[in-house]
Amino acid sequence: MDPGDVAGHGSKVFKGDFHLADGVVLPDEHKGKGEGGHRGLTYPFPTPPGVGEAVTVAPGVLWLRLPLPMSLSHINVYALEDGDGWTLVDTGLNTPAAIAGWEAALSGPLGGRPVKRVICTHMHPDHIGLAGWLCERFDAPLLMSRLEYVMARMLVADTGLPAPEDGAVFYRAAGWNADQIDRYRKNFGGFGKVVRPLPTAFIRLVEGEVLSIGDGDWRVVIGEGHSPEHVCLWRESDDVLLGGDQILPRISSIVAVWPTEPAADPLGDWLTSLKRLKTVFPETTLVLPSHGEPFIGVQARLDALIRGHETGLKRLERTLSKPCRAVDVFSALFARAIDDGLLGMATGESLAHLNYLARQGRARVARDADGVDWWTLTPSSET
Ligand SMILES: [Zn+2]
Repeated sequence: MDPGDVAGHGSKVFKGDFHLADGVVLPDEHKGKGEGGHRGLTYPFPTPPGVGEAVTVAPGVLWLRLPLPMSLSHINVYALEDGDGWTLVDTGLNTPAAIAGWEAALSGPLGGRPVKRVICTHMHPDHIGLAGWLCERFDAPLLMSRLEYVMARMLVADTGLPAPEDGAVFYRAAGWNADQIDRYRKNFGGFGKVVRPLPTAFIRLVEGEVLSIGDGDWRVVIGEGHSPEHVCLWRESDDVLLGGDQILPRISSIVAVWPTEPAADPLGDWLTSLKRLKTVFPETTLVLPSHGEPFIGVQARLDALIRGHETGLKRLERTLSKPCRAVDVFSALFARAIDDGLLGMATGESLAHLNYLARQGRARVARDADGVDWWTLTPSSET
């Protein structure tokens, strides 16, 4: 997630009615009629742990929750038994409430045993916010994929710097007005406010690698699109998957373009990833997601996520029968009104769909004299 944008909109994002701090995440029922995103899923652990509590969801795997200050009220984190201590997966935001949640968990269900490793699935603030705090406190190493670690360090380093002119150009092109661009400038660099400084060294996780944690062997499976090199961990012996934000039940993760890479095609990455994951995980897999409840039904869920974007792309193509700016296509993709607090994420997600169509040769864009981009269907795509 672009820091300048995501965390930069920080508190405003948190007040929004979308479902992730780090994303324009729409519940499936709001995306297109009859999508049936929940169908085919079962939830074997319907009651989530309260703050300072833990639920054992698989041998050696504890499910904990930390509060988030937004409408998506929580992030799930997991503690894996690791010899005489724990390996933690994801950390929550750097807020007093999340720190209090950790204190209660560490002295409560985690039994005062040490944290031996901290793994972050990806670099979004709700996942990485307290990694630095936990690693420092327990002198524990941080394990991440390389792209996620480097991006996070970059975003933390942006905190306190002025907004880049490239960002203003990017949002002007998308159709933002002067006030909205002004607000982007003011809010830029908020990432470091909700993320503790990261350890200055880390251990790299790579696709296919197998991590020994306690009695279990966890295979690293990389996803792309929601974030650049998202780590999932799969214990193949009993089909337990720490899915992060790559496969969420009920809501779909944000897939967005940010000013640092205006021509990116994260939706292409996302769809390619989801299709690949369908070939990896069997239907019996217990998915332990970062938001929502653990579920079984990974194939149905991956199908629904793919279908949701395909439906959105079709509606977007109909909208592009007339020239549109990125800000003109929200109603094709989002069922709810986009207020200014959600504007960055909604713009990013719209551009992800537009860039995807452009890469497929189905849409094209032209910049006018005012620096505004107008998107249309390519002639061959018109019906
Ligand atoms: Zn995320």
